[in-house]
This record gives sequence, structure tokens and C-alpha cells, in this order.
Amino acid sequence: MDKKLVLAAVLAMGASMIYAQDVEIATWSGFRKGAASFTFDDGAPSHVSDGAPLFDKYGYKGTFNVVVNWNPDWSGFGNMAKNGHEIASHSNTHGQNMSGEEASSKQSIAGKIQQKYGIITVAYPNCNVPNKSAVQQNYVIGRICNGSWQSQPDMMGKDGPSDWTMASAIMTGSTGTNDFKGNMQKAVQQGGWIAFLTHGFENKNNGSATYSPTPLSAIEDGLKWAQQNDKDIWVAPMGHVAMYIKERKAAKAEASSSGSTITVKLTHNIKDNVSDYDYPLSLRVKTDLSKATVTQGSATLESKIDGGYVYFDGVPNAGDIVISGDGGSTPTSSSSEAASSSSVVASSSSVVGPVQSSSSTNPWGPWNPQSSSTTALSADPASLAAVAVYRTADNYIEVSGAQGLPITVYNNMGQVIRTTRGLGLVQKVYTGAKGMYLVRVGNKTFKVSL
Ligand SMILES: [Zn+2]
Repeated sequence: MDKKLVLAAVLAMGASMIYAQDVEIATWSGFRKGAASFTFDDGAPSHVSDGAPLFDKYGYKGTFNVVVNWNPDWSGFGNMAKNGHEIASHSNTHGQNMSGEEASSKQSIAGKIQQKYGIITVAYPNCNVPNKSAVQQNYVIGRICNGSWQSQPDMMGKDGPSDWTMASAIMTGSTGTNDFKGNMQKAVQQGGWIAFLTHGFENKNNGSATYSPTPLSAIEDGLKWAQQNDKDIWVAPMGHVAMYIKERKAAKAEASSSGSTITVKLTHNIKDNVSDYDYPLSLRVKTDLSKATVTQGSATLESKIDGGYVYFDGVPNAGDIVISGDGGSTPTSSSSEAASSSSVVASSSSVVGPVQSSSSTNPWGPWNPQSSSTTALSADPASLAAVAVYRTADNYIEVSGAQGLPITVYNNMGQVIRTTRGLGLVQKVYTGAKGMYLVRVGNKTFKVSL
């Protein structure tokens, strides 16, 4: 169930009335039905050489738990962190129990790896829970192994584990399961969160990660299924999902409207020394607008209107989110589409991105696929100028120069088939059936054929 907050109407200062609005915070990012996290233990060379490239190919990110004293490939894992993967602690020494290494392993890794949300996840060697209060003081989440081995459920519910120092993850590989798809389907059906625990891969250079090798092909089958069902399953690193749940449970969203402007206040009061809990939450607000621009502070947020709601992701405690209507004008005609990258600059009016095409006829018609409309987002025009979208030799849609920008892939029906964010210099975002696709990066749109 989504959290639904209905606010009482309040009177504005001055003459105009402000009306209450319905605002909902999604149970899972993107209003998906379930969540899945792929976690990898022991900092294997194959995690860098084989694991990360496989995930990047599908646009998904994993959690990689390294052992400080085993000298992992810091530069390789550092590049993965830059590319959006989560690097987390798996202790200093991989002893029987990591008690005493909770803080020091975190500090050592933080000294080597820079990542947006810091070192917020720990996976315990040998599944043994160390000092719980030290875990709580240093991490958003601590992970055991199969929950059922320690009187916990194997699948976590929508509110996460009952004890955040005992998040479960099911073992994969020769002594575990390779049914990634079935477990993710169960998460979707139950509205829960499944996490996988993988060591090395079959027939790869796994270093010390020799336990229960998993065939890469089984993981790839799982990622393919996830990509095909991306509207239902949220695949994200363990620490990010943990942040999302804690923020969602603590968050308060209040919306009010004045004229065609809706203001949303998204706040929480979680305070600890581990995290700012500033992972974006997915929201929707009832609207009868046909187009809207959503801003928070100086940023314009990616948004979409569908079925009487405006959807967007907002950061808690980062200032008012303002939804501005454009007076409900008719759908954009191609002649009114902005034609140059100067349209990147956010404005209070709705900006519809250009379709970059050498052909004057656009098979998609005006940029307004089906009933939804997508508005522009803020971007540094200089960086957006460097964005490129193309097909690789192995038939993937690849995007470069999109760091920090939302990426949306549409099929030739105008349906969204993939949403992600530019996380690195180059990233594969989609592969699928032959045909034409539209790829929207920031507020520029590109046509690519597979
Ligand atoms: Zn281990």
C-alpha cells in the first residue's frame, strides 16, 4: 500500500487560496511492485572483470562487499563506484566474526573509494552478526546470509528486515539457488525485497571468492527478466534500497496548490551519523494538468503525467518541490518543439525536448507518447552538449556523456521500456527486439535503431 496523505486545506497569506492535494510516496522507487538487490562478497577480481560489465550492460547496479586486508583491486572497484555500483564492507580480515572491525573497515574503504552515499552497507563474513550497536553506528544496513539460517525470513517485506543489522540474502551458486527470475517474481507478487548473495562466478578468476560459484549466464538470465519487467521490479544496491525504505517510513509529504502551481514539502527527521538519508523518493500528486514542470531548488526534476497524476522523484529535506502547470495547452506540435540545446535551461514553462532526427518526418509524431508527457530536466548545457546515443556492435543502445542525467528509453509505441540515470562516461542502457527506439537523455531525444 502506498502511503497516502491527505492534507487539510490551509489559507494562504494574501489573497489566493491554497488547496490541499493528495500526495503519495511510492512503496518502491518508480511505483514498482517489488525490489531486488544483487550482493557480491569477497572482492573477487571477477567482480571487476566480469560482474560489473554484465550489470552495466543491463543498466543495473550491484553491491560489492570487499575485504580490506585481501587487497582488492581498489582502482577497479573505485571505477565501479563512479559508475553507480555500491562498494561496501565485508570486514578487514574475514575472521570468524568481524566484531571490532565495524568502524575501521568502513574507514579504510572510505579512504580508497569515493561514492555518493558513502560506505553504508556491511556484509558479515561467515554470516555471523558482530557487535550490533557498532553496526548501527556505522551502517544503514548489515547483512547476514539466508534469513532462514538465522530465524529470519528469506524474503524481506516492504518495510525491510525487522532488524536492520540482520538483513537476509539468499546464497546463489553451486550450494545455493540460481533461480534469480523466480525469486524476483516472488518479490513482485508479494510486494517484498529479495536480496541475492553471490561469491565468484563459474570458470572465472575469483581470487579468494571460491565458495559456491555461480554461472554468469544464470545472473544474466535474471537481469534480462528484470529488464523486461522493469516497470514491476526495482533492481538497486542494498544500501540504496535500505535508505529508500527508512526514508519512506519516516517521510512526511504535504502538498498544497495555488492556481496551477502545486507545492510539495517532503521532509523526514531521521538523524544519525551514518547518512543524510537523501536518496530520492518517488512521489505522485493528483493533477488535472496536461503538462507540468517540476522543480526542487535549482534543479528541474524529470516528471511524467499519467492517469491523472504527476510522477517525479524528490529528495527529502532538500527544499520545496514546485509543480507548475502550463495552463493545460494542447499537445505540443512539432513546430513548437525547441530545436537547439539552448532549450536545456530550465524555465517555469513546460519545455518539450527536441527530437533529433535527420528526417523531417517523425514516426512518433509530436513528443507526447500516449497519454503521458515528459518534461525537461535541468542540466548543465555544456555537459548535455556532449551526450551521444548510439548502437554498439553487439546491439546495445549505449549512451555516453550522460552523467547525472535521467535516461528514458521508449519503444515505437511510445511506451517507456527503461528508465535509468547516467552514471558513468559510457553505459549500455538497453538491448531488445529489432526496431526503432527513442532515447531521452536529459531533455534531448535521440532515435536509435537496433
Ligand atoms: Zn566472505
